[in-house]
Amino acid sequence: MLFWEDYQNVLVPCRGLCANTRVLLDLVYTKGDETCRLLLAAFKQVLPEAQRAGLSFGNCRTADLENTRDDTRELHGTAIQTLQTDRPDLVRRLRDHIEGALEVLLHTGSFTPSDCNEVQLPVYTPSQQARHLLDQVRSKGEPAAKVLLQYFQQTEDHPSPSNQEAPPKECLSYQKKLRSTVSAQSHFLGTYGGTSSLSLEDIYTEGQLELAQGDSEAQPQTGALGLEDVVGLVGTLNQEADTVLVSGEAGSGKSTLLQRLHLLWARGAALHDFFLLFSFSCRRLSSEQRELSLRELLFLHCCWPDGDQDRIFQFILDHPHLILFTFDGLDELMQSFSDSEQRHCCPTQCAPVPTLLFNLLQGSLMKGVRKVVTSRPEAVGPTLKRYLRKEVLLKGFSPGGIDCFVRKYHRDPTVATRVLECLRSNTALLGLCHIPVFCWIVSKCYKELLGCGEGEGSPQTITDVYLMILQHFFQRRASQRNTMGIGWVQEHQDTALHLGQLAMEGLGASCYIFTGTELQKCGVTEEDICMGFLIRSKDLSSSTNCKHYEFLHITMQCFFAALYIVLNNNSDRSTIPKLFQLQDRQQQPGFHRVCLGHCLTQQEGALKEANKAAETPNLQITATFVSGLLAQRHRSLLLLSCPGPTLDRKSKQVVTCLSKGIQKHFKSIPRPVEGEKKSMHAMPGFVWLIKCIHEMQDSRIARDTMAKLEVEHLKLTYCNIGPGECTALAYVLQHLRNPVGLQLDYNYVGDVGVEQLLPCLHVCHSVYLRHNNISDEGIRKLIEKGIQCERFQKIALFNNKLTDACTECFAHLLKMKQNFLSLRLGNNNITAAGAGQLAEGLRFNRSLQFLGLWGNKIGDKGAEAIANALKDSQTLVWLSLVDNGVGNAGACALAPLIKNSTLEELWLTKNCITRTGVECLILALESNTSVKAVWLRGNELSPEEVEEMTQREPRLTF
Ligand code: ADP
Repeated sequence: MLFWEDYQNVLVPCRGLCANTRVLLDLVYTKGDETCRLLLAAFKQVLPEAQRAGLSFGNCRTADLENTRDDTRELHGTAIQTLQTDRPDLVRRLRDHIEGALEVLLHTGSFTPSDCNEVQLPVYTPSQQARHLLDQVRSKGEPAAKVLLQYFQQTEDHPSPSNQEAPPKECLSYQKKLRSTVSAQSHFLGTYGGTSSLSLEDIYTEGQLELAQGDSEAQPQTGALGLEDVVGLVGTLNQEADTVLVSGEAGSGKSTLLQRLHLLWARGAALHDFFLLFSFSCRRLSSEQRELSLRELLFLHCCWPDGDQDRIFQFILDHPHLILFTFDGLDELMQSFSDSEQRHCCPTQCAPVPTLLFNLLQGSLMKGVRKVVTSRPEAVGPTLKRYLRKEVLLKGFSPGGIDCFVRKYHRDPTVATRVLECLRSNTALLGLCHIPVFCWIVSKCYKELLGCGEGEGSPQTITDVYLMILQHFFQRRASQRNTMGIGWVQEHQDTALHLGQLAMEGLGASCYIFTGTELQKCGVTEEDICMGFLIRSKDLSSSTNCKHYEFLHITMQCFFAALYIVLNNNSDRSTIPKLFQLQDRQQQPGFHRVCLGHCLTQQEGALKEANKAAETPNLQITATFVSGLLAQRHRSLLLLSCPGPTLDRKSKQVVTCLSKGIQKHFKSIPRPVEGEKKSMHAMPGFVWLIKCIHEMQDSRIARDTMAKLEVEHLKLTYCNIGPGECTALAYVLQHLRNPVGLQLDYNYVGDVGVEQLLPCLHVCHSVYLRHNNISDEGIRKLIEKGIQCERFQKIALFNNKLTDACTECFAHLLKMKQNFLSLRLGNNNITAAGAGQLAEGLRFNRSLQFLGLWGNKIGDKGAEAIANALKDSQTLVWLSLVDNGVGNAGACALAPLIKNSTLEELWLTKNCITRTGVECLILALESNTSVKAVWLRGNELSPEEVEEMTQREPRLTF
């Protein structure tokens, strides 16, 4: 009566026995009478006599259950039985046909509308819906089951599931073992280091996933991606490739996402297409010195088979489409992905692990096996991109996600509410919390957070956040001894230096897992370990007897490296300049030697090969922390540990590096072509430098670095700019002397980011925020501020989440700002009602030249309202109502605009205009000379009509 997946769902390790029992009872209940009877019969077999006597089931006492076994025999060969035996396959097939199946069940009276609603609850994934549907059908009995099976027969021409070849027995038990291994490994998150009762299940919060599309203009934003879409069909760019890349910044939740997928698979709750899942950490693979065959890699690194190894491996080779490999943290692999790597396609022949990995990702080895690999964006070069099936970007938490995470973290709702209130009152911190690792720290240190009140003391920067967790861990130990004064850094200086040295040497050597010997070399003591910044690594297969450690998170390692640079009085004077000249590091191999002293000897050979591109982000994060720690505001904290003059010298070095770095960017701006604006496209590293300046929280430094920037247009498209980056940008750019066009298209600014940008709005003549996940709420705040900014004249918001709820504020803007030039709202959700509101503003405006509403839903009514409002405009040059469901009524209403002397282009492509509408436009064009083109491609006209009309009016473009 139970399937393997049910069994897994009930027997969750670490969950209390009572909870497991309750889940079992609920499950059995949903499966209907038969299952309930069988459960009681089972009770009867296992319970001692004394307990059995009192057991009753409705009117049916246990004595009545004697015959149950015989009854169930009748079930064989029934439709219900088929649903049970073929369940995994049926779930797979049903997932895409839920609606159809429900319709039939409803139609035949097997289901009520409320049964259907229950199955289709939006919280369920399609697979969960399929399973609920099957459970419901079972509980309804044989006739319903027959209806469903008939539906399958009619709709699908797949062979019957029972005809499919079943996996051999050894493979089934290997799957069982693998599932329980994967389940155990993914039960807790590393950052909770075994010190919390929160499991992944308790705390997991959906992150924002987006497809990285080559041509985003052509691919407007689709619905949100779910976890299973990472592996699913959606967004496939290259059918031939097997590798899906999930990319995201440090701390954006890549490892956690994989861990969640692993757990769901292990419990049979997702990824049903995959019979076996093998998960690898590139960090751990990097420590594998031996040459291995693929077979050894799977069995040694993931799960050792108890049964016939040959048979199991043959099954894997024969069924690549049933196998999934995941590789976490490609950026942490010692060697960069390279195409010139030796070709290796034999699964039983040995090769160095990177060779195996690259050949797997390229598809030379185990073609057909789906692979999911995570990485930071910088580490993925064009070579790997050629082999990608698709790329999915992980963009951290949405505002709702932050809310959800905080509420899951704090079981006490009062605490959760207080933390959230605190975040809302500190939007810079809220912006940072979009990155899950920061959200975790803020939640973990909630006592410190709530204790520091609002304003000055409240954390503003990433360094503040990490100082908070540093204090938190130190405090935890200190409270046991009851000493924790103002000089808390000094008090724990030794620990900071030991761990700092370890972190630093590790970063230089691309080393993230440390042995006991390495810890000893840096003076790390048992007490330092107990602080909690280091966690035990999951055992490495190569040396299981030896303990290994890693930092709680890579950003924590960077923070300790920064502490070391700042606190170490003996550090080389060139350390800071070398750290900041990251781009030039290839020519300056001295950086590592200067910073890392002795540790490198062993790793040096490997380091030469190391992936510089992947290493840079860690050093950039370190440099960001160094800037923050050397800010004036932290001087008193560090003064007890480091002499004032040394701190001043280091701080000056940082300021000089930042200033020089920014200057270098400015110098790269090409001279403008005559008649064009002086434009600067941010080079790699620009946003990082801006973030470092922000960490210093010294407006004088921001002002000085911006003083020499003379640019009319600053282009920061596709720069991974989230709310946190917006805070830094606004902090620095507000000091620009001349007005600038700020182009932030294709980032993930969101509503919180928009709010963060407000302090620099007064220096912006134009703001471009295409494709940034902005909703009405964010826009309302932007426009409210924009109205007060004299220079603000243009805004582009193509492909966001705007609705009619924000058109009133645009109308207000148009009324209030009689120097406003361009309003582009394409590809949002504005309907006729919104267009009507917009028209109210247009009617009073005397300056607007460009109005873009492409890809909304304003229809004839909206077009009429807009045409009416603009009919006397003396400024409008360009109007786009492409793809808006505009018909003849709309076209005829727009004709008077053509008579208007200023209009040059009218875009009406992809609407539903017929000959009647076009005749109106032709008539209007007869008395106009200013219009250059009226675009009408994709309307309802025959080729003959197009031919004839083009003859009559060449300015019509079909
Ligand atoms: P990355 O691999 O991108 O560096 P991680 O997955 O290691 O990031 O995330 C860092 C920490 O942030 C995790 O240990 C966890 O505490 C928190 N975290 C990340 N993603 C989530 C999530 N989806 N739900 C809950 N917590 C998360």
